[in-house]
Amino acid sequence: MNLSEKINNIQKTLPAGVRLVAVSKYHPASLIQEAYDAGQRIFGESHVQELVAKHDALPKDIEWHFIGHLQTNKVKYIAPFVSLIHAVDSERLLIEINKQAKRSGRTIPILLQVHVAKETTKFGFTPDELLNFMENGDWRQYTNIRFSGIMCMATNTEDEALIASEFEQAKTLFHRIKEKYFSDSDTFNECSWGMSGDYPIAIEHGSTLIRIGSMIFGERTY
Ligand SMILES: *Cc1c(COP(=O)(O)O)cnc(C)c1O
Repeated sequence: MNLSEKINNIQKTLPAGVRLVAVSKYHPASLIQEAYDAGQRIFGESHVQELVAKHDALPKDIEWHFIGHLQTNKVKYIAPFVSLIHAVDSERLLIEINKQAKRSGRTIPILLQVHVAKETTKFGFTPDELLNFMENGDWRQYTNIRFSGIMCMATNTEDEALIASEFEQAKTLFHRIKEKYFSDSDTFNECSWGMSGDYPIAIEHGSTLIRIGSMIFGERTY
């Protein structure tokens, strides 16, 4: 199967309201161009320098999503053009995104990363931390940020029931936050979960953005 067939095979299984983020990290611009020529417009990257280089080299109507852990000191390089930052996990990062968005004369859409997986990681708000953060209300002052939804990663496991329960937890949290803080706006709409190994489960549990890399581009060589 060629790249274009792989993308089309995924695209045609997606219900209305679910969009494909083609995760192109570590793959060359030529492959992204090939995917672009097949009609794909949203690409996900997780390293700032790589994203900047690809943004410079490739068509300007690509929607670039930053999907990895973003370091505060690197926000300035992507703020002028990034379409969505998926994994915002601290107030420090929000402050910097807001500042750099302002400098670029933009409002930058972001997703709050919630940690629902069994694996221990230092990234992401726990559900309780996220609820407290929303309740505290400081986020309302970041007027150059658009709060667009939440993002999570499930445990890397064969246990589909566990994966489903983690996505379901994220979905419940999303609806709770949406109803409480965004009921009168239509900005908080995105649920970013599902990768090559678990995206059909993610779609069953509310995902609106699936982030697929290896299934499209093959294995990455780091
Ligand atoms: C690399 C990456 C993906 C894509 O993973 P695949 O298993 O290759 O589909 C999705 N989300 C994040 C945050 C990633 O870093």
